[in-house]
Amino acid sequence: MKKVIIIGGGVAGFAAGTYLQFNGYQTEIIEKNVVAGGACIGWERSGCYIDGCIHWLSGVKNGSDLNKIWLDVNAINKDTVIFKQDDLFKFKFGDKSFILYSDLDKFQKELIAFAPEDEKEIRRFAKLVKKFQKVNPPCFKPVELMNLFDLLKVAFTLGGVYPLVSKTSKISPEDYANRFKNEALRQSMCDFMAPHYNLMSMLYMLGHISADDAGIPEGGSLGVVKRMEERYLSLGGKIRKGISVKKVVIDNDVAKGVLLTNDEVLYSDWVVSTTPVEHCLVDLLENKYHDKKFDMRLANEKIYPIYTYTAVAIKCPNTVKDTSLSIKIELDEPIVLDKEYKYLSFRNYGYDKTVKGADNYCVIQVSLHGDDNMYYYWKNIKNSGNYKEEKSRIGELFLSLAKQVYPDVADDLKVIDVVTPCTYERYLNSRHGSFQGFVHTKKGKSLMQNGRIKGLKNFILAGQYIVQSGGLPSAVMSGRFSAQRICHDDKKKFIEP
Ligand SMILES: Cc1cc2nc3c(=O)[nH]c(=O)nc-3n(C[C@H](O)[C@H](O)[C@H](O)COP(=O)(O)OP(=O)(O)OC[C@H]3O[C@@H](n4cnc5c(N)ncnc54)[C@H](O)[C@@H]3O)c2cc1C
Repeated sequence: MKKVIIIGGGVAGFAAGTYLQFNGYQTEIIEKNVVAGGACIGWERSGCYIDGCIHWLSGVKNGSDLNKIWLDVNAINKDTVIFKQDDLFKFKFGDKSFILYSDLDKFQKELIAFAPEDEKEIRRFAKLVKKFQKVNPPCFKPVELMNLFDLLKVAFTLGGVYPLVSKTSKISPEDYANRFKNEALRQSMCDFMAPHYNLMSMLYMLGHISADDAGIPEGGSLGVVKRMEERYLSLGGKIRKGISVKKVVIDNDVAKGVLLTNDEVLYSDWVVSTTPVEHCLVDLLENKYHDKKFDMRLANEKIYPIYTYTAVAIKCPNTVKDTSLSIKIELDEPIVLDKEYKYLSFRNYGYDKTVKGADNYCVIQVSLHGDDNMYYYWKNIKNSGNYKEEKSRIGELFLSLAKQVYPDVADDLKVIDVVTPCTYERYLNSRHGSFQGFVHTKKGKSLMQNGRIKGLKNFILAGQYIVQSGGLPSAVMSGRFSAQRICHDDKKKFIEP
């Protein structure tokens, strides 16, 4: 039986391991943290569960290729409750507010009532979102392994919408927002996604939510990875946690295994890396191998920025009156970090009554979304020795703003954690504290890297960074693709679970 070492026990690592175990390989995952899950994680503070990932999991509706993959790896199963809240976002501008509904008719009605002067453009926008309900990336097989029949299937499913995907990829939400006369509507469109994402990314997200294909699985992000880990172990997969890979062992340009931080060497027939790509190329492969697609991205953070955030978790009595899923407020005074932030987001996790602490409390996360510059801001603070103090300042600042948003429970709100890009850098070995792939900007090229590193044999790259924009679908898809690539090279027919 051939052995595969998989570096990283996140969503991509478990997907790779599950499909490989199913195809007759003996796999071992090496995960640096003591709890597996990578960026898809949740943790406890002050008796409460803090969810560290899933805002939206797409592919939850039966029938799509992506849904089949989630079921194969047991991220969700037929009994998993999926939360879908109709009021997605409440935008507050002083005393004015509107709600973005997931139901497209309600969505359109609410926006027209808020900005009647933009009725025509709002109807156009809703039509555009509707078209994106049918946009599904082909994820049953990597393109290079597709036969004519597969390619025809892709052409058939994507053919009609491809020109729209391509066109909206080259437009930013800011460009598009100029069509609207209402200032608040324009602002909310610009600030809906994290900085620099193109219009296509926004339409894809709204399309899938409005098509009922995106939701939040019960038990949160930790629930998802625990189910995946169980499935992987049940197939005979092995995992070592709390130890890192120092480098990939290479002999004559063939990967032979990995060297761990305790200096142990593990040999294998194949090595799959699901770690953040920069860490893999620079540290694990010691900068000896290059890939044009990544070199270009890593050298240009203006066109290929990453997505970071600063968040404060607040313990809140679950009697709080405003149970809106997400609230975004326009601030009276901007918050100054690497730049002036004019809006602040609040997300209430009280919808899931199965998680720790839910009998009495819910967790509200207050967050600002940024790019590489937010990372530099926090990194400089960390290097200057003032990290703890600055985290504490931000915690108190966000708390005071939370008290204004939730006045009925103001006296009972308490900061229980503060997360910065440095947290993700340390926890995941990720570039600039990013937790998704490269942002798909209007000027950037789309990415679907083929998992191969030129000149290096028996080594496969997987993980969210090899697919455009990253995210959970990209991660799980890349894990499946790595198994298909290995089966292909070993001349084995890939068997579906
Ligand atoms: C706050 C937040 C919100 C998010 N919201 C969403 C969302 O709503 N929808 C969505 O689709 N996605 C979301 N994501 C993104 C999603 O979490 C990621 O896309 C996904 O989890 C990435 O999985 P991965 O396996 O590719 O990478 P990772 O999770 O980064 O896994 C790589 C693993 O490798 C390990 N590792 C790194 N270096 C080494 C080493 N040298 N040796 C051993 N192990 C190593 C890491 O510890 C990690 O566990 C969110 C993420 C965050 C943090």
